[in-house]
Amino acid sequence: MNKNLRVPVIAGNWKMNNGPAAAEKLVHEIKPLAAAAQCEVVLCVPAVSLQAALAASAGTNIKIGAQNCHWAPSGAFTGEISADMLKELGVPYVIVGHSERRQYFGETDATVHDRTRAALDAGLKVILCVGELKAQRLTNITAEVVRLQTKLALEGVSAEELVERIVIAYEPVWAIGTGLTATPEQANEVNALIRQLIAELYSNETAAKTVIQYGGSMNDANAGELLAQPDIDGGLIGGASLLAQKFAAIIGAASV
Ligand code: PEP
Repeated sequence: MNKNLRVPVIAGNWKMNNGPAAAEKLVHEIKPLAAAAQCEVVLCVPAVSLQAALAASAGTNIKIGAQNCHWAPSGAFTGEISADMLKELGVPYVIVGHSERRQYFGETDATVHDRTRAALDAGLKVILCVGELKAQRLTNITAEVVRLQTKLALEGVSAEELVERIVIAYEPVWAIGTGLTATPEQANEVNALIRQLIAELYSNETAAKTVIQYGGSMNDANAGELLAQPDIDGGLIGGASLLAQKFAAIIGAASV
């Protein structure tokens, strides 16, 4: 499928790193390095650092994202943040369904769906994470797992919402924060099967326009090969997004 129909998205996931002062400093470091990017650049920062990151990135091509949002607009959900609150703050992006939320905080396919729906309803863009566990890959059920996760998350999402406001991030759980990267062929194979699913659920045209990233130990050394794959439209990057030079090199690899 024609890659020119899609603008790659390079998104940093800072996880629980960088409070407001450190966030401001890192955004200032990344700013000049990202200025000529030929891709969308997003930094998903801890909730307490959103305001600092928004201020530091104002007037640049860097977009700021949160790492989670709740499905209710408000209410008795201690510790949670609603999509409407993120919108009010001026945050354009939010990650939903990251494997660390699924693994450590009880996130399920149902709550991933509800958070995605709430984020879309609030007018946010969603980076929707899917991916198989190591045991699932070893038992050859990667395709089933990823298809199911994607299908459940997208239930009720229109083609327009998918193309305009959802970025799907294929993140094999065994590759996240482990230094183990899927080979470019392994990553592309799953991205292609997600695109095939979208063609089945929506249309070939929608599938051709849907941005599908790879995430899992992407770094400055392996980004070029991964991003050159026909079905990989950018990356969701954890560890390597905490260092301005490494992150900038990945942006550079997506901008060729
Ligand atoms: C992530 O946090 O989504 C991620 C892919 O992390 P890492 O790049 O560190 O594997």
